[in-house]
Amino acid sequence: MIVVLKSNVNENRRKQLISWLESQGLGVHISTGAYQTVLGLIGDTAKVDMELIESLDIVESVKRVSETFKRCNRKFHPDDTVVNAKGVKIGGGNFCMIAGPCSVETEEQIVSIAKAVKASGANILRGGAFKPRTSPYDFQGLKATGLELLKIARQETGLPIVSEIMSAHDLKLFEDVDILQVGARNMQNFDLLIELGHFGKPVLLKRGLANTLKELLMSAEYIMAGGNEQVILCERGIRTFSDYYRNTLDVSAVPMLHELSHLPVIVDPSHATGIARMVPPMALSAVAAGADGLIIEVHNDPIHALCDGAQSLRPEEYDALSKKVRKVREAVL
Ligand code: PEP
Ligand code: MN
Repeated sequence: MIVVLKSNVNENRRKQLISWLESQGLGVHISTGAYQTVLGLIGDTAKVDMELIESLDIVESVKRVSETFKRCNRKFHPDDTVVNAKGVKIGGGNFCMIAGPCSVETEEQIVSIAKAVKASGANILRGGAFKPRTSPYDFQGLKATGLELLKIARQETGLPIVSEIMSAHDLKLFEDVDILQVGARNMQNFDLLIELGHFGKPVLLKRGLANTLKELLMSAEYIMAGGNEQVILCERGIRTFSDYYRNTLDVSAVPMLHELSHLPVIVDPSHATGIARMVPPMALSAVAAGADGLIIEVHNDPIHALCDGAQSLRPEEYDALSKKVRKVREAVL
């Protein structure tokens, strides 16, 4: 249920209403916008007397929210959320360009890629240290060492870093990582999501391979229920009938998620297609659909990459794409 307050409501009256609602056993999420304050009520609202609340002189309107996701719901928080990763803003008109290799391999590799993508306009560096691989015999990532190398690249370039966490047991290792990525395979690892709700760092939450938008939003809700509102949603392709590329990029997810939620929505065209030459057209389609950013795999030597070489752009290809991204943004803004 949401309670929209009249503008210029007296602070004491507002506090009294909130305390009363809390005394009814409800959680109250307060969203203070430029024009309106919206109180989002969480819990068993079935017994709440809507008419009574509506009759209060400080209340503009009361509406039931049918969706099961509340904190990430745009009805609870009409303004866009802006995520802040070490000073870099994402969402609410702030576009992010996240780029880097699938996996951190060596210091030289990650530092040279970081410098190259920064020169092309990237403002956040990606690099996997814990890799969720289909085969247990494939490269599993450099783990703690990979995170240390990523931090060296951050120091060299000033770019904030994002890396995937696969287990809550590794949280201590991520204390100095700027954005924690939850990969597609862990989208419904609820224990991990709950821990991230308390960890206090921005989370990049990827849509699962076979998950609906509602399930993605419910996973965001798990993180937000712990008090962490810094969540970025990421569409990265889903399983359909695609036979010639890795997954199907659900571009429609971008405007629909924007309608349903106030959280920033970014797109990963690399994992969506699995083929480097498919990345630019899909990236541009995501920008045209209104994405708040792109996360793209870039490698200086894709043929010898330890993971996902086939979908990685070379730095010069990324540079060319970045220029087109800017043009599409200008065209659709
Ligand atoms: C990744 O970004 O490195 C990754 C493994 O992505 P996803 O979880 O989307 O497959
Ligand atoms: Mn990858």
